Amino acid sequence: MGAQILDGKVMSAELRAEIAQRVAALKERGVTPGLAVILVGNDPASEIYVRNKGKGCEETGMYSRTINLPEQTSQAELESEIEKLNADPAIHGILVQLPMPKHLDEQAALAKILPEKDVDGFHLINAGHMMTGTEGVIACTPRGALYMIKSTGIDLNGKEAVVIGRSNIVGKPMAMLLLRENCTVTICHSRTKDLVEHTRRADILVAAVGKAGFVTADMVKPGAVVIDVGINRVDGKVCGDVDFEHVKEKASWITPVPGGVGKMTITMLLDNTVEAAERNLNRDR
Ligand code: NAD
Repeated sequence: MGAQILDGKVMSAELRAEIAQRVAALKERGVTPGLAVILVGNDPASEIYVRNKGKGCEETGMYSRTINLPEQTSQAELESEIEKLNADPAIHGILVQLPMPKHLDEQAALAKILPEKDVDGFHLINAGHMMTGTEGVIACTPRGALYMIKSTGIDLNGKEAVVIGRSNIVGKPMAMLLLRENCTVTICHSRTKDLVEHTRRADILVAAVGKAGFVTADMVKPGAVVIDVGINRVDGKVCGDVDFEHVKEKASWITPVPGGVGKMTITMLLDNTVEAAERNLNRDR
């Protein structure tokens, strides 16, 4: 029997309807949640993501602003834009689109964003909150992936979770969230020996590698929940890290690419921005 599909489009549509209601409630109190995205240079994939973020804001009634900076922007110029947005009361969320041109220091730029406006959850303060399980902004992609895992209704207590990938934006925070759900978590990476030994134990398997078709059916435990975070382009077509056609015959639940985690990432970004506006309003009172 084939796996059930975790449909990011359907889940996002439901969540965005709720977000739109919260935006409407904020507007009644005189606040329009605002998201600013800084895009340095003109990487075509980044331009698509930024456009989709703008569309998401429009769809939920939020204000969005895109700041396009030229490729040769200096670190000082970038940080000065961030500081202007930090001080702007119309902006509740600031996102610096990654990756940035090589001459810029991403970590230094992210550190300039006010933690309460860091809707990507990449600021060290928010990474620290994630680590300690205290209240902070949770990175959008792992947050969306966890939402999808939880939507299966499976009891996560004591489950074996294996995350392939250890980046700061996906792998590590994903592992931390699964740990918070009482999974027994293994993080695999490019130096892991006997990867298959680990993945075959996984009740929950998350792939965040960036290699098309990397996870094959023989790596998957029958009945596993398989979450494909990867976004790869093969012959102009978008695909994930999982060999979807074969793995879906073995898994109990699986996310497609496109239409899976990627869609949820932007929805979580919208949610983080509304939450930032709500928190700000409550602080002001
Ligand atoms: P990254 O390049 O920073 O990390 C890739 C990870 O894969 C590394 O930690 C590396 O150790 C691991 N890896 C590489 N080869 C391996 C191997 N042979 N065996 C085991 N592990 C191996 O990438 P990232 O930023 O974490 O993104 C991962 C993928 O997720 C990319 O395809 C990216 O486009 C995608 N992504 C999707 C979303 C989304 O919204 N769906 C968001 C962010 C990233």
